[in-house]
Amino acid sequence: SDVLRLEAISKTYGKGGPAPVAVLDGLDLTVARGEVVALVAPSGAGKSTLLHIAGLLDTPDGGRVLVNGRDMTGLPDRARTEARRRELGFVYQFHHLLPEFSAAENIVLPQLAEGVAPRAAGARAAELLDRVGLSHRAHHRPAQLSGGEQQRVAFCRALANQPALLLADEPTGNLDPATSDRVFDMLMSLVRDTGLSALIATHNHQLAGRMDRVIRLGAAG
Ligand code: ADP
Ligand code: ADP
Repeated sequence: SDVLRLEAISKTYGKGGPAPVAVLDGLDLTVARGEVVALVAPSGAGKSTLLHIAGLLDTPDGGRVLVNGRDMTGLPDRARTEARRRELGFVYQFHHLLPEFSAAENIVLPQLAEGVAPRAAGARAAELLDRVGLSHRAHHRPAQLSGGEQQRVAFCRALANQPALLLADEPTGNLDPATSDRVFDMLMSLVRDTGLSALIATHNHQLAGRMDRVIRLGAAG
């Protein structure tokens, strides 16, 4: 079964104006359960647009978005927000951790928002931090962590509520090449160990080659 299914997605910016930009035109894309798919696209090809549509942050002009078989097209904003919180995890190029909270707290907070009891949320945060080798950094704030450590915490936060699908946009793009490789390895083992499905955008062809399948957007790829 497919965790994510995009069917005939089209998106045009500036519709009806003097200079419409057709970014996506009849795009089909699926991510099967347990599959890790790379999204490789030259700048401007519509990668962010696609991730926003898949992440239920934006709606397409045409086509359907199905998450776990459920058609999200035309659902009211509130239902899409709920589905996003419950079923999707996000990682970006920059960590977007809350600066005034510790690493552990950053992983606990989204769980509390979903109604998880504080004790269980803390245990889950500790377990995730242990998996990425950061138990000794649990009580440090983001500014006290290295770039690689910050991204590892961001991965833990994305997985905190056990999403069905991880959407990642250049998750190691802000790190130097050696750190990027190590941190990417950790993300991959985290994803594999939990049987998570993922759609991961990257410019790095070597990293893309290590995923189950590569989808190319736009001409050059
Ligand atoms: P990528 O992430 O691959 O660089 P984007 O999805 O951000 O590409 O954008 C694809 C194209 O759509 C670009 O040409 C961009 O300028 C255009 N675009 C993106 N967002 C908007 C918007 N809100 N209004 C008008 N054009 C946009
Ligand atoms: P990494 O192995 O992720 O590249 P670094 O070599 O950059 O980590 O950092 C080594 C250690 O120094 C890390 O454990 C980190 O917590 C600590 N550290 C890095 N940057 C800072 C900082 N700005 N403030 C405090 N501690 C830091």
